[in-house]
Amino acid sequence: MMLNELRQEVYESLMELPKNHLVTMHSGTVSGRDPQSGLIVIKPTGFRYDKLTPADLIVMDIDGKCIEGDLRPSSDTETHLYMYKHRADIHGIVHTHSPFASIFAVLGRPIPPVMTSAALLGGEIPIGGYAPVGGEDIGSEIMAKLGSCSAIVMQNHGVYTFGTTVWKATVAAVEVEDVAKIAHYAMLHGNPIVLTPEQVKEFQEIYANSYGQKE
Ligand SMILES: [Zn+2]
Repeated sequence: MMLNELRQEVYESLMELPKNHLVTMHSGTVSGRDPQSGLIVIKPTGFRYDKLTPADLIVMDIDGKCIEGDLRPSSDTETHLYMYKHRADIHGIVHTHSPFASIFAVLGRPIPPVMTSAALLGGEIPIGGYAPVGGEDIGSEIMAKLGSCSAIVMQNHGVYTFGTTVWKATVAAVEVEDVAKIAHYAMLHGNPIVLTPEQVKEFQEIYANSYGQKE
């Protein structure tokens, strides 16, 4: 089997999605790109999380040609390929319909940076316009709206997060749902205090310099 390490990373990230209540039944996708070969590992479409093993994941090239695997790839594959083609720095993508972030998706609103942890995602999480699944529409809309953020909410659909690794994209998927949840509940009480762009930048510098363990 090819790309065992990347398969394992994508598999472990997929297992985090139901554990963190970001997906129900078959929804959601994780993919990762191998920096050496440029090959992509992605979840099969409509597959139960509790039955999934690393061997079920599909290896494909950047044009979507299957290199290894018998199952059909995620219905969202074209979005992932589009993003990998257009952003050389991205090596992991997570897509979910996580409920609190999706509240903002159906309202067509960005998620305000109400917590310092939002700085990790780039501040305000942008909202992308409605785009049908399949084809390049979602990818081109994400490229148009994402900017320097690592997450975006897509109108009437759900959330995409991106990272230089699969794990970083997975952490962002959990984080964006957390921020959305707190923003949603806070809005029920009135107008939450939103971080200024300066405060976001200040926290980004703190995270970059001193948060977490040395790699
Ligand atoms: Zn979706």
